[in-house]
Amino acid sequence: MIQTIKDKIELSENSLLKIGIMGGTFDPVHYGHLVTAEAVREKFTLDQVIFVPVGNPPHKIGQKVTDKKDRYAMTLLATATNPYFDVSREEIDRKGYTYTIDTIISFQKRFEGKAQFYFITGADALNQILTWKHTEQLFKMCEFIAVTRPGYRPDDLFQDIEYLRANFESKIHFMDVPAFEISSTDIRKRVEGNISIKYLLPESIEAYIYKHGLYSGKRPAGSEESHG
Ligand code: NAP
Repeated sequence: MIQTIKDKIELSENSLLKIGIMGGTFDPVHYGHLVTAEAVREKFTLDQVIFVPVGNPPHKIGQKVTDKKDRYAMTLLATATNPYFDVSREEIDRKGYTYTIDTIISFQKRFEGKAQFYFITGADALNQILTWKHTEQLFKMCEFIAVTRPGYRPDDLFQDIEYLRANFESKIHFMDVPAFEISSTDIRKRVEGNISIKYLLPESIEAYIYKHGLYSGKRPAGSEESHG
């Protein structure tokens, strides 16, 4: 039987639920995100991982980002078979710019204060965290898991995180995830250049991209949909 958030809160009795918040643009979502979410869930023994596609991120003004309804639909499709995964419309439906602090406050209300949150995102996004809205409050409300691509841990990033750990009440964890060699930027470029994206993301997402003409590409010859 599928457990709703209410069921989980009731079953948790006095202990806090451990909830991962997987924030990202997901343009498009790919196996790197899915493997990461699953690896983090296991390592930190999370009860649930909620994917939160960004809505109107203030830090992406002037950058071309795919319509949020498509990014949400792809994230929903990609996560549908994992009982521990969920996708939130929290930022998709919010008017105006979307900030992580508002998202966490909203989740705190939804979980009635009975959850410890772990915000999971790319280490390069965390590099800028002091420019985010109400960072100090955010550090008090959730722990951070900074996911690094293999070989990507430049000294300056490491120093930045050490600075945050030393100067704020912050809990920041690092996690190397080999499958994170896959990147959304690379997938978009491949589609645009009519290069195969097979095995980089679920087939349902590949089909969605071509059906909706995302990233202005055509399915390359020899990369047809498989039918079982
Ligand atoms: P992004 O552009 O989607 O990603 C930045 C980098 O991190 C990319 O290399 C990306 O790889 C990787 N990445 C993205 N999501 C990831 C995830 N969940 N786990 C592991 N790696 C991930 O990220 P963004 O839009 O800058 O922001 C990430 C999160 O931080 C969002 O939830 C955003 O709302 C939040 N944020 C908040 C503020 C604020 O509140 N002011 C400011 C900045 C960011 P791919 O390209 O392959 O996905």
